[in-house]
This record gives sequence, C-alpha cells and structure tokens, in this order.
Amino acid sequence: MTRVNAESATEQRAGKLVVISGPSGAGKTTLLKRLYACAPAPLIVSVSATTRPPRPGERDGVDYHFLLKEEFERRRLRGDFLECCEVYQRGDWYGTLHSEVAPRLAAGKWVVLEIDVQGTLAVLQHYPAAVTIFIRPGSVDELERRLRQRGTESEAALQRRLDVARRELASVDRYRYQVVNDDVDRAVDELCKILSCCGG
Ligand code: 5GP
Repeated sequence: MTRVNAESATEQRAGKLVVISGPSGAGKTTLLKRLYACAPAPLIVSVSATTRPPRPGERDGVDYHFLLKEEFERRRLRGDFLECCEVYQRGDWYGTLHSEVAPRLAAGKWVVLEIDVQGTLAVLQHYPAAVTIFIRPGSVDELERRLRQRGTESEAALQRRLDVARRELASVDRYRYQVVNDDVDRAVDELCKILSCCGG
C-alpha cells in the first residue's frame, strides 16, 4: 500500500465516501467483488448512469442506469449529477447521480464510486475527505494482455482504452492510495486495510 497524499483536514461527519479508479482491465471488478465480501463495514456501490449501450448480461439499475443521450442531458442540465463526463471520447457519457450518494452518506453509510480520474477530481471538489484509491495493473503490457483476453473490444476501442490507461496512470499521485493488482489476494488485503484504517 502506498500512501500518496497527506490526509485532508476536512472530516466527513456522516458516512464515508470511497472512490476507486483504475484502468479498464486492471482487474478492478474482481478485486471489488472480493472487497465487498470482506470490507470492515457494509459498502453500498453507487450505480452510475451511462449513455453507452448495455453489454450482454448487464442489467439496468444494477450495473448502470442506462439512459438515452437526451435523458442524460436533461438530467445533467437539471443538476442531478455529482459529476459526469465523456469517458472514452467516443460520445458515451458516464455520471454519478447525487441521489446515489448524498442520502446514503447522510444516513452514515459507506458509499463506493467506481469512476474514472476526471470524475474523481470533480468528486473531490464536493467531498474533499473522500478516500481515493487507484488500482493499477502490474504493467501496461499486462493490461493489454488482460484486455485482449477479455475480447469485448474492437482493436480501435482497445487502443483507445490503452491510451486512456496511460493517461490515467500518469494521474495516480492525485489519489490518496494506490494498490498494484499483481496478486489478487494481496491486493484485496491491502484494500481492506486501507478501509479499516479509514475508520472501519
Ligand atoms: P465501462 O464502459 O467499461 O463500464 O466503464 C468505462 C469507464 O467508465 C471505467 O473507467 C469507469 O471507471 C468509468 N465510469 C463508470 N461510471 C462512471 C461515472 O459515473 N463517472 C465517471 N466519471 N466515470 C465512470
């Protein structure tokens, strides 16, 4: 576990906001599933909204709130989002709804956001005491191998994800913690320790 930044002086009185990022293919999903089973406090995962179409097996309201672009835009203008942005520069928008976060924090719950780097920076403006964790692959080569193995992307989309990953890896020092996922058991253990030392 590497502690990146000094802890913010601002303490959240109610609940705890945990923001987790990492390149697509860094093994985030596997790690987080394990983390949710062993975390020091029950974690509520915020369901993001997106305009991208569902992948096979994804369910509306569970994996994402899948919105048409017009609906997303309407809600964005209405101020429903804590943060939102276009993630892969191909016209797909992703965003965190206030309704997924604020009421739960107010009720003292622990809320987890799985979002990208630009989203994290926007969230920190509202919640400077958020616990930010960046999950990184062992290397970019390892990331490429995993993405190819997953086989869900065209070559162009895969290259775009790798470009985004390289850019995101350059922003890792904006996070309070970083965890290298080169060994799943150890990485889960580190995540649990981070959450425990944050008040779990
Ligand atoms: P995917 O399309 O593979 O589900 O997600 C692509 C990327 O979108 C991931 O890097 C994920 O972290 C990011 N993402 C998912 N939800 C949100 C969100 O609500 N806000 C932001 N900024 N990024 C998100």
